[in-house]
Amino acid sequence: MDTRVIRVDPVNPDERAIAEAARVIREGGLVAFPTETVYGLGADALNPDAVRKIFAAKGRPGDNPLIVHLAGVHELRRVASAFPPLLGALARRFWPGPLTAVIRRGPAVPDEVTAGLDTVAVRIPDHPVALSLIRRSGRPIAAPSANQSGRPSPTAAVHVWHDLNGKVDLILDGGAAGIGVESTVVDLTAHPPVLLRPGGITLEELQEVAGPVRVDPAAEGMPAAGPVRSPGMKYRHYAPAARCVLVEGPAEAVVSRLASLVRAEREAGRRVGVLATREGAPAYGAEKVCVAGSRRDPAEIARNLFRCLRELDEAGLDIIFLEGVEPVGLGLALANRMRRAAGYEVVTAGRGGSAAD
Ligand code: AMP
Ligand code: MG
Repeated sequence: MDTRVIRVDPVNPDERAIAEAARVIREGGLVAFPTETVYGLGADALNPDAVRKIFAAKGRPGDNPLIVHLAGVHELRRVASAFPPLLGALARRFWPGPLTAVIRRGPAVPDEVTAGLDTVAVRIPDHPVALSLIRRSGRPIAAPSANQSGRPSPTAAVHVWHDLNGKVDLILDGGAAGIGVESTVVDLTAHPPVLLRPGGITLEELQEVAGPVRVDPAAEGMPAAGPVRSPGMKYRHYAPAARCVLVEGPAEAVVSRLASLVRAEREAGRRVGVLATREGAPAYGAEKVCVAGSRRDPAEIARNLFRCLRELDEAGLDIIFLEGVEPVGLGLALANRMRRAAGYEVVTAGRGGSAAD
């Protein structure tokens, strides 16, 4: 059966739509809803059967824990058992917003949510639809991104429909998600805190409040070696079905190297796609070029990155090149998503200077 879709005003969400979605959550069902990062797939975080449905719908590995979404700091006691001193300062500065804190879990949180870890990841989303759904349901809502596991995260309701139609009870369509990449995940049980996943809050912003932050190699988008602190990091993710290659380095070197890689692939008779910056795009004579945004505006690239990956994926290409961006500010989150989309197949242009550069 097709999944129901209800349109909601993202600024002033309709009371009846929220009440209906809240009922589904309370009854143990699944609701996809917009947040300021990407669309989430929500279930009652305190109901193990409901949480198991999230993993089934997404095809998500059971050892990859979920983020619990709350409507306010007063609800932290329902899911956590200890509050690191830094949490207050981070909450004041970044909540509601795209920062997820990993803290000690409380006894009410089922193992399904935390994948059996003694920690729980929590955040307060900055989106009227998400907040009113949490409030109205009266439950903390466990929600990963509302995509088929391994696919690019959904930034529009149509992406959710494409991946999960028939597998979830309800989709709240509130238009485009805001930032376009997921939340920043920081482990506050470690000293100093550890950045596990870069996202909507930049490392630089985080450090302004938290002081020194250790960056987990996985957060830079490197393949995990040895034990991982954040299980989500060991999986290939965000990935189009076609082979995907990321080209990184100084902007000019990236563009010229990428242009010659595209030429070589086309000469070999392959259909080529490029995820490009507006500045680089004119250099690529590929079958399909998706412009994600200006190199000078990583926020624009963030809004379009996953949509572009989906569009390129659907174009029936043999190979997709990603034009890398500088991994600073929001660019660190972009680099992380691109490296993982490419399955860590990365070409470094410029530095060291091969003839092609
Ligand atoms: P997603 O919900 O797909 O955006 O992914 C949630 C991210 O948060 C994944 O990278 C998880 O591994 C991470 N995460 C959730 N809970 C924990 C936890 N208790 N400890 C460490 N990482 C976590
Ligand atoms: Mg996800």
